[in-house]
This record gives sequence, structure tokens and C-alpha cells, in this order.
Amino acid sequence: MTTQEADASGTCVGNLNTNADRRLNGKVAIITGGASGIGEAIVRLFTKHGAKVIIADIADEAGRNLAGSLSPPATYVHCDVSKEQDVRAAVDLAMEKHGQLDIMYNNAGIIVAGKSVAEYDMEQFDRVMRVNVRGVMLGIKHAARVMIPRKKGCIISTASIAGIVGGFAPYSYTVSKHAVIGLTKNGAAELGKYGIRVNAVSPYGSATPLAVEYLKQGDASSSASEVDNKAAVEAFCSSVANLEGTIHKVEDIAEAGLYLASDEAKYVSGHNLVVDGGITVVNHSWK
Ligand code: NAD
Repeated sequence: MTTQEADASGTCVGNLNTNADRRLNGKVAIITGGASGIGEAIVRLFTKHGAKVIIADIADEAGRNLAGSLSPPATYVHCDVSKEQDVRAAVDLAMEKHGQLDIMYNNAGIIVAGKSVAEYDMEQFDRVMRVNVRGVMLGIKHAARVMIPRKKGCIISTASIAGIVGGFAPYSYTVSKHAVIGLTKNGAAELGKYGIRVNAVSPYGSATPLAVEYLKQGDASSSASEVDNKAAVEAFCSSVANLEGTIHKVEDIAEAGLYLASDEAKYVSGHNLVVDGGITVVNHSWK
């Protein structure tokens, strides 16, 4: 594992007027998968709101560049969430550097196009489980390790609407995101007595590298179309969106995470905050 403290030169992410406006002032947050897409939006928003951010990712160059571009700079740490030693080390880094961990944001995830269940590639299934399920379990485990003695903390995981409906994504992804919601519920049930809140955020669709790459591959087990670039992904997602003509932006998902991480949500735990424009409550064929 390597770490990098980014230098202070870089793009300002925007300022809020007073410390009181900064909803995460002084809090320390680890954001896994923070180098790209939704995670990057969370990193930017949490930094803007006064959090000391640690980006934990395997995309070292993108992660370091992002960390260095922020004001104040974030810390980047190489961390494969499927490896326990990496997750343990990222959490230990937060404790050594800042003396506390207030927010563990388990956002890293992967999706791989799948075949019909009768022909499913079980190596691929296991790979998705290792990152999306084991990775979140490890994040909760090691955050709890340091949060329990302090009797406070907040754990958030990125799930998906594929965690509440079937037929939207490949088997591996659907199962993994249902599991993220299960881990959230168990975590909330066990850790509440220590003042630790555990929640999830479920996005619908953003044209991130993950979504573009997945939809490019097509998928026999779900409704995914073969679309091959950001604009096509946005068009595809918009075509099945409930709020007509719109899909969410990564920033919309980050705002949901900000709420759950903030003191305004101090009585919210075990919740899966669905940010899907209502798509999962309408009678939808996904086609
Ligand atoms: P993205 O590809 O833009 O970002 C994912 C990040 O996770 C990347 O920086 C990547 O390097 C990192 N990552 C991958 N494997 C990792 C590992 N083993 N350890 C640490 N980091 C790892 O994708 P995104 O769309 O921003 O996805 C973020 C989360 O949102 C994922 O959990 C995804 O399942 C979820 N999600 C995305 C969408 C969407 O439409 N984009 C919808 C629902 C849920």
C-alpha cells in the first residue's frame, strides 16, 4: 500500500460562506472508489463541506491527481477493497493521520455484463462478489473496529436500484447490491448501541466509466442495451427514466450521501436512500 499527501496547489472546489455552512466540518472521511464517477463527486462535495478526505482506490494516477487538485488537498491511498490488509491499512492511516474516522463511505463497485443464468460465468460472479460484497463487509468491519471505542461514527455504502428490483442488471451485480443493503441493515442493527449509523444510497444511472463500459458490452440477463459512449448511455437511461427526459447526475448521488453523513441525519440508520427519480415505484418493464 502506498500513500500520497497531495500538495496544496490545485483547483478550488468552491467555498461556502461560513464554517456553519460546512456540514462536515472537521470530520474525517474515507471514500472508497473515490477516484472516479460517483465517488469523485462525493470526494469533491465532502471536501467542500469541510471534511478531511481520504480517497481509497486502485486507480492510483486518477486518485492522486484528484487529491492534489482539491483545496484543501485530500490524501490518496492505494486500497483494493477486496483485500483485508488494504482496508485495514486505509483505516489505520485515517487514525494515524487524523486521530479519528467519522465517515466510512463504501462506494467502490464493479459491474460485469452477464449471460443467461444457465450459462453464467461463476468466476465473474465471484469477482463481483469480492469487490461489491466482501469490499463493503470489510469497510464496515474495519470502520466499526475504530468507531466502537469512540462510540460514534457513520458508515454509508453505495448500493443500487439493482439491490431492490430484479431484471435490471446481471445476476452477480443484482445479488451483490441486495447484499449491500443486507449488510447495511445488519450493521445498523448491531452498531446502533455504539452510536454508529449505517445507511446506503441507491442510485439509478449515471454515465460514469462503470456504466458506459457495462452498457457497451450488452447483457443477456437484463434489459441493458448495447450502447457505447457517454451520450448513448445518457440517452438509454433517459429513455427508461421516470422523471421524463432526465437521469441523475453524480452530484445528485453525492448530495444524498452528504445528508446521510451530516448531523441532520442523526436519527437515520438502517436506511437505503433511493435516488432514482421514482423509477422503482412505477410499473416498469426496463425495456
Ligand atoms: P466508476 O467506474 O466511475 O468508479 C468506480 C471507482 O471504483 C473507480 O475509481 C475504480 O477504480 C474503483 N474501484 C473498482 N474496483 C475497486 C477495488 N477493488 N478497490 C477499490 N476501488 C475500486 O463507477 P461509478 O458509477 O461511479 O460507481 C460507483 C458506485 O456506484 C459503485 O458501487 C456502483 O455499483 C454504484 N452505482 C453506479 C451506478 C451508475 O449508473 N453509475 C448506478 C447504481 C450504482
